[in-house]
Amino acid sequence: MPDTEALFEAMLSATSDAVMVTDQSGKIARVNGSFEKLTGYSSEQLAGEDARDLFKDFNDDDFCDSLWAGDGDAVQQFDSVRSKNADGKAQLHGLSMTPILTENGDPSQFLAVILSDSFQSDAESDGGTRRVGYDSLTGLPDRSLLNDRVDQAILNARRTDKSIALLVMGIDKFTFINDALGFSVGDAMLKEMSERLLEVIRQSDTAARLDGDKFAVVTPIAAIDDSVIVAEKVLHATEKIFKMGDEKVRITMSIGISIWPADGEDFDVLLKDSLNAMQHAKGLGGNQYQFFATDMNTKAKARLDLEKRMRIALEKEHYVLYYQPKVSPGNEKIKGCEALVRWDDPEKGLIGPGLFIPVAEETGMIQDIGNWVLRKACFQNKDWQDKGYDPLRIAVNVSPHQFRSPDIYDRIVSALNDSGLHPRWLELEITESMLMDNIDESIAKMQQMRDLGCGLAIDDFGTGYSSLSYLGRFPITTLKIDRAFVHDVQENENTAEIARAIIGLSKGLDLEIVAEGAEIIEHVDFLRDNGCDVIQGYFYSRPVTAFEMEEMLRQSSLMPA
Ligand code: C2E
Ligand code: MG
Ligand code: MG
Repeated sequence: MPDTEALFEAMLSATSDAVMVTDQSGKIARVNGSFEKLTGYSSEQLAGEDARDLFKDFNDDDFCDSLWAGDGDAVQQFDSVRSKNADGKAQLHGLSMTPILTENGDPSQFLAVILSDSFQSDAESDGGTRRVGYDSLTGLPDRSLLNDRVDQAILNARRTDKSIALLVMGIDKFTFINDALGFSVGDAMLKEMSERLLEVIRQSDTAARLDGDKFAVVTPIAAIDDSVIVAEKVLHATEKIFKMGDEKVRITMSIGISIWPADGEDFDVLLKDSLNAMQHAKGLGGNQYQFFATDMNTKAKARLDLEKRMRIALEKEHYVLYYQPKVSPGNEKIKGCEALVRWDDPEKGLIGPGLFIPVAEETGMIQDIGNWVLRKACFQNKDWQDKGYDPLRIAVNVSPHQFRSPDIYDRIVSALNDSGLHPRWLELEITESMLMDNIDESIAKMQQMRDLGCGLAIDDFGTGYSSLSYLGRFPITTLKIDRAFVHDVQENENTAEIARAIIGLSKGLDLEIVAEGAEIIEHVDFLRDNGCDVIQGYFYSRPVTAFEMEEMLRQSSLMPA
């Protein structure tokens, strides 16, 4: 058995790769001779320092932290990372991060290796030294290295259940530029373009130069729209005027996009698809992107259009709140109401939340829309109280994105403070699935809201995880049975049995129980007879405008229309 420590020493000093060993937090334990030679630092200078300091001047904090975040036992590879060498200058190089795992799978150390064949200080990069796998003009990975990166991305995507997008882009009418202004201007432009590409992609994505004026970007995506976002950014980055010496040139790009696995299983097929799509984009006049799968283009366009209109709607306050009463079946009194958002589009009329809340959720716009809803609901409820109606509790839906956001608590506090509504008259509706990702953190967050004095309801209960074991741990006040367990309760004994069980469960946990979707008298009879406290549904009222809701409040008791 060789002495592993001695073996490790020998390897470190023998390799021409520049190697840095850090602990799991990024503190430098040691570096080898090649590292000293390449960067100009000595071992003594670096020992005990935070390795992020070498990167943080030229990379954003998130990226620096991600280097030491690890990804299970996977080696992370980065093609174009800038770090600071001893004379303070930036150097551009590839970097691989290898986690050394303890027995229980946590990283205890990291091996950071600067890929020496990719090493290039900024001063040198003009020299055009040929590096294997990299394009000599721009320093970007070349086609063969891109092939590796795509293979790697496909492996990762399989593991994480994602897709990947391969974007191939070409400068429109590049030959004119070369012919009119000369090759040196053309080359300078390609270099500038490669810089701009690196600025707009994430550092974990790969940008490559294929040949001539053609570049490529490979990026993992969760949805098609993620690739649209990258394409838009590239088009946008191209718009800025290129200044090369005395020449000022404006150019445009055409981009073709193919998606793994939908459009092809491997690099060769994807590349062919993307090139085809790029040609199609050029044929349509350039300065645009096209998907290989043509139906994607229509979808992407419709989707972008929707997003744009939603942003305008937010600025112009085209969202409105409707209110649906929640009624006590014993005395038919309105105990509360749920605020439900609609989009009052000047052209298309009233649009239901099912059509835009999911898009708002994906784009993050839900933060602004949700905050608007929260504030509006609090102000409206306070207004009804000020007018002298019996106080009622108003329920507001909180989406997963909103719930996870760090400032949700502050936003609730501001809405309450600014409107003057007492927290006991506000209830937040959340769904179970959004609590299950990080249970302890979710519970802490829910507790904060409870400590404020707000009610907390689990919405659509029975459709998600329905993890009974956790229900007792959640600091909630209310359970809302989903309408799936109400709609055929009068004729389906199984549904009736489940509904009874959920009502029984909530009684056992001392929770208020609200049934959704009561449409007919048989639903109401069943729910009341089985001990349901509160009923919400078309039987009593559809969601209505604030004005109509006020009319209902004016009547002391509410009978079906
Ligand atoms: P939800 O929170 O479960 O809201 C109840 C939905 O059931 C409402 O649909 C309501 O109109 C509908 N409903 C009520 N009674 C009946 C009935 O008797 N029969 C039937 N068939 N349906 C009934 P709506 O307004 O279309 O909202 C759909 C979903 O959109 C809501 O489900 C909620 O998840 C979401 N949503 C609505 N407003 C907001 C909001 O301001 N923020 C967020 N994040 N989500 C919202
Ligand atoms: Mg709800
Ligand atoms: Mg619901």
